Order: sequence, then C-alpha cells, then structure tokens
Amino acid sequence: MTKPSANPSELARETLIKLASHKTQPTPDNYARIYAEISGIPIPDQTGAEKVLRKFAENLGQNPKAAPQATALQKEIDTANWEQCLKELQKILAKPDDGETAMPWASLIHDLLHQLETTHKGITVARKKEGVETVLKRFAANPETLFDKLNGLMHSWAGAGVAATTAEIEAKPAEATAAPVAAAPSITAVTTPAASGNMVGQLSEALAQALESLLSALPELATATPSLVQQVRDIRTPEQMATLNKQLRQFWIKVELLAGDKTKIHDGLIRLLRLLVENIGEMVEDDEWLHGQIAILQDIIANPIDRRSIADAERGLRDAIIKQGLLKQSLTEAKSTLRNLMTTFIDRLGEITVSTGDYHQKIESYSKKISKSKNLADLSHLLEDIMQDTRTIQTSALRSHEELLNTRKQVQESETKIRQLEQELSQVSELVREDQLTGALNRRGLDAAFEHDAGQADRTQSPLCVALLDIDNFKRLNDTQGHQAGDQALIHLSSVIKEALRPSDSVARYGGEEFIIILPDTPLEEAAATVERLQRELTKQFFLHGNERILITFSAGVTQRAPQEPQEEVIARADKAMYQAKHSGKNRVVTAASHS
Ligand code: GH3
Ligand code: MG
Ligand code: MG
Repeated sequence: MTKPSANPSELARETLIKLASHKTQPTPDNYARIYAEISGIPIPDQTGAEKVLRKFAENLGQNPKAAPQATALQKEIDTANWEQCLKELQKILAKPDDGETAMPWASLIHDLLHQLETTHKGITVARKKEGVETVLKRFAANPETLFDKLNGLMHSWAGAGVAATTAEIEAKPAEATAAPVAAAPSITAVTTPAASGNMVGQLSEALAQALESLLSALPELATATPSLVQQVRDIRTPEQMATLNKQLRQFWIKVELLAGDKTKIHDGLIRLLRLLVENIGEMVEDDEWLHGQIAILQDIIANPIDRRSIADAERGLRDAIIKQGLLKQSLTEAKSTLRNLMTTFIDRLGEITVSTGDYHQKIESYSKKISKSKNLADLSHLLEDIMQDTRTIQTSALRSHEELLNTRKQVQESETKIRQLEQELSQVSELVREDQLTGALNRRGLDAAFEHDAGQADRTQSPLCVALLDIDNFKRLNDTQGHQAGDQALIHLSSVIKEALRPSDSVARYGGEEFIIILPDTPLEEAAATVERLQRELTKQFFLHGNERILITFSAGVTQRAPQEPQEEVIARADKAMYQAKHSGKNRVVTAASHS
C-alpha cells in the first residue's frame, strides 16, 4: 500500500482521507504515522518523550509480574494512542510495586467499623477507639505495620479481652526482630566495630519496637514512650546507653505502677469475697439476710468487674452489714430476754410445786399430830402452825400467780418485738436508698428515681436528661489533704448540687467521686446549661478544709433520653461524653445527642 513515488500533496490528501475513514484523532503524531505508512518514508525519529516512555515500558517488562502491563503500555505507544497510554500509566502507578502484597485496606476498614459497633464483653467502644487512635498515631508512617497492628487490635477485641490485645499486638514485630537479637552476645560488644555495631542496631531496634508495642497496649504511657523509643533508636555509644539505662529504669517503675493498678482490682475483689464469707458464717441462721447478700454479689458478678464496681460493692456490703449487724444484736438481746423470762417462769412453777408438796406433807404430819394430841392447848398450837403454813402457801401461790401473769405479758411483748425486728431485718436491704456519706441517692435510689421519671416522661412525652459528673483530680486531693478531706469534699459537692437544682431533679452518688443528676422535663441545651451553672456555683462556694479554700471542679457528660430508652444506655452515653470532657482538658461539659 506504500506509494513512494506519489507527490506530497497527493500523499497529504490520502493521509487525511485515511485519518477520517479510520476515525483516528487528527493529531500531528497520527498524521505523521499514517503519512509514513502511505508514503513508505519512515517517520524521521521518535520524539524525546516517546523514547523515555519506550525505555520505561522496556524496564517494566523485565519484572515478570509487571510484564502484562508493560506489553499493554508498549502497544499503546506503538499505535501512538497517547490517551490510552496515559490510562495504562495511571494503572501502573496506582498499584504498589508488588501487586501480590497489596493490602486489602477497604475490607480492613469495613471490618474495623463493624467491630467497633459490635459488643465485646469487657471492652467499651471508647476503649476500642482509644486503641485505634494509639495505633494510628504510632504507626502512621508505615502503612504495612499499621495494617498489621490494626488487624491485630481488632482480632483482640473478639478474643480474650485486654490481655489478648497486648499479646497480639506485640506478637508480630517481637517475633520478627527478637530472634536475631537473642543470639547476640551482650551490649558491651558496642566497643567492637562493624559487626557488633550492626548487632547494637538490631538490638536497639528490637527494644524500640517492644516499647512501641507496649505503648499500644498501655495508652497511659503515651507521653513518656515516643521520646524513649527515639532515644533507643539513636543509641550509638556506651554513654548514651548509660543515660538510657536510667530512663528505662524509671519507665519500668511506671509500667509496674500501672500493672499494680490491676493488682489492686484483684485485691479489692478478694477483700470483698472475704467480707462476704465472714458474714455468711456469722449470719447463717438468717436465711433471708443471706439471700439478700447473695443477690447483691450476683448483681455485681453479672457485670464486667472493674475498680469502681468493686469499690461500690464493698461500700454497699459494708453499709448493709453494719445496719444488719445492729439489728441482729437487738434481736439476740430480745431472744435472751425471752429465755430468761421462761427460766424465771419455770423456776416459779417449781417453787409452787415445792411449796404445795411441803404443804401436803405438813398437812399429813399435822393430821397425825392432831390425832395424837391430848389437849386443846396442843391443838391450838398446831392450828396456829397450820394457819401460819397455809398463809405462807397462799402468799407464795399468789405471788407466783402474779409473776406468772407478768411473765406471760413480757413474753408476749418480747415476741412482738422479735417479729418487728425480724421484719425490719428482712427489709433492710430494700430500705437503704441513700448514700451514707453524702445523703445523695445510692444506686438503688437512682434506679427508683429513674424508673419513676422515665415513666413520667414517656407518658407525658416530655424530655428527660441525665448528667454524669466526675470530680477532676480527686485522687490528688485525697493524696495531698487526706482521705477525710476527700470525704468532706464529696459532702460539700453533693450539698452544693442539691441546693442549686430544682426539687424535681434527683442527685445520686453513682460511684466513688461520680454523681448522676436526673433532670425531668428538661431539654438537652437546658440540662447542659444547668450543669454549667453548677460549675459556676462551685467556683463561688469554695470547699473549706481547715483554713484552706479548695476549688473543686468536675467534668460532665449530659445526654437526653430517647423515648423508652433503658437506663443503662442513657448512662453509657453520658459516661462516654464525660470521658470526652476529661480528654479535652477536664472542667467542662460535653453533650451527647441520642441517636433516635
Ligand atoms: P480524673 O480527673 O481523671 O477523674 O482523676 P481522678 O483522680 O479524679 O480519678 P481517679 O479515678 O483516678 O481517682 C478517683 C479517686 O477517688 C480514687 C479514690 O481513692 C477516690 N475515692 C473514691 N471514693 C472515695 C470516697 O468515698 N472518699 C474519698 N475520700 N475518696 C474516694
Ligand atoms: Mg472517676
Ligand atoms: Mg475523677
């Protein structure tokens, strides 16, 4: 089809006709290519860009995995289809070097979202988010590690709770790097050059990764670890090592303290059980009481156990035990009084029998004496004696009768008292609705108030809000001013709150230094404003300890209950908002809208 001899304008026309009939884009390159085909005159030379592209395709083709893409690209260069060429290039650029290890991020994110929403026993959503945030922060620079860590974290939720989280996150990097290090001799080898230098490098990298893994499991260490990790990575000389050694020691102490926190939970639990067992032993006769105690414990065990629930349980049991102990004492006293009365009664009865027996014997001897008597004087003496004895019997019988009536009355009184005490004892757990220290409602009181207010809100379709308050840095106040000052501060806070609220609002002590406020007939904005007002009130009414004025602040989460929503869900939402308030700097109020 080439016509080497045709004249240029003829060739130009034919070229244009071909361009049009093949519906090829009329670009200068396409024109040149078709012109060359028709005329048989080769295209003078490739452009610089085309050369570069061909070289790129050729190099790409040398990697067997990328060969199909290289061929496709080459084909587009050959047909000078630059638009398609660009698309091929984009495809190549979009894929990572190694097509096979591409990570399925989309499915990971999908799973992660799903797992966040799914309930896992013992792990709150907030806790999960915190874990994700920590992993994101730590491993953002390395997508591959980030992918693995997120995956590990997510699986740990479904697995055995917090402990598994630590194990799983640590597993991968630790295995990968720890093996060569384990075989290395010791850190003193730092002074020998090349090979040992490499070994120190590996060692410090392994240590750095171990620290990072530890951090993802213990977010409480977030501030201390990154700089330590950096120092570990930078380590080159024995001097640096010595400095680092000191810091590592301090760091271990911190880690141990955190671990100690968990031991405290354990200790608390053991103490609680011991308390219960001791009391079961003592009160084992009082079945109803035992029943009440076991119900309390079952309540606690049914929920995930943390420091707060243990402390609550301990406090609750103590209150009940003290009250019931007092009642039991009165009951025992009443019983022993009854026993004494019974004894007295029997004694008296015996006395009567003895007296009458005497009388009969005497009468017998008198009758004998009477039959033998010789004169009136003797008889008169006898009669006098008989009269005397009869009188004694009469008085004794009369006294016994009175005592008998008296005793019976006392027995009846005692029995009534015992019945009353027994009733009171069986009701005591039900009756305690107030927190002993602050006079705010306790959990039982809170449940009752919530049930009442929620029912009212549902019936009248009015808004009901719940606020959860947690005192800021309360532990510090306890540590610096003493536990008793802490107690006084709780009483102060509770009374300031109660004074500043409407009578229809309820205040309950939810945990150690946490309070819940129920605000019936109040929309969310108004509830938040109320809680902010409480904050201002506390800045006006200082807590006085000795001569010192102490400012108490709190962080709060406020939320509105959706119609029919159960108490736990409303409180969980308020708790989450309170947690946000803590995280964003404390002494503030965060609201959480309900989802329905
Ligand atoms: P944050 O601002 O993060 O809430 O810090 P915090 O110190 O208030 O919180 P944390 O939960 O660490 O400490 C709460 C402390 O409250 C620990 C516990 O000793 C103390 N506490 C709990 N119940 C009582 C109580 O009845 N009386 C006293 N005096 N202290 C209590
Ligand atoms: Mg707290
Ligand atoms: Mg607190």
